[in-house]
Amino acid sequence: MISSTIRFFIDFDGTITTDDVVDRILERFAKPEWREVEKEWVAGRIGSRECLARQMALVSASAKDLEKLLGEISLDPGFLSFMATCRERSIPVVITSDGFDLVIRRVLGSLNSFGLFSNRLEAVNGNLKASFSGEPCEHGCANCKVAVIKRFSADGRKSVFVGDGLSDRFAAGAADLVFAKKRLLDFCAEKKIPHQSYSSFKDIEAWTRKNS
Ligand SMILES: [Mg+2]
Ligand SMILES: [Zn+2]
Repeated sequence: MISSTIRFFIDFDGTITTDDVVDRILERFAKPEWREVEKEWVAGRIGSRECLARQMALVSASAKDLEKLLGEISLDPGFLSFMATCRERSIPVVITSDGFDLVIRRVLGSLNSFGLFSNRLEAVNGNLKASFSGEPCEHGCANCKVAVIKRFSADGRKSVFVGDGLSDRFAAGAADLVFAKKRLLDFCAEKKIPHQSYSSFKDIEAWTRKNS
């Protein structure tokens, strides 16, 4: 696959960041019942939209609380260099996240060379409020990564998906090439979805350089 003819679709939580920010928000600010909701989602009984809506309704936190937590989040050690390589080679990057726009923009700071499809988070009356913008889909996704990949398919670039978790399971089946780690790696192996394992964006940057 020649990388000048590809487009990256990249998960955010646990992929671009070393930690899953949504999980950190829930652990710190939600009533403990969020874990019961999580179990229903892991088992496939509810989609991520219902899961996240119910979990975020259990959260009590101000914008200031969130700001403090976000200051503790770190990026994958190879991500910024990977992004520089993509810019240099004019390879488009789209972040597809079941997390939140506010979190992603804040954590990535001045970096803005990417498209973004995610959920919304706002501070309303001193508390955080989540909302969803995309159409409801057959999987019950909060933000459907399959729909995002399909939306871009018309220009003929191959889709390369990078992810780490179960919120990437549908996208992994829809992309032309998948880089997987952690639970997504187990999932791809179990479902026999063709994939390459990776440990950081340094591996993906090396692949990108080699294939262009
Ligand atoms: Mg993730
Ligand atoms: Zn979906």
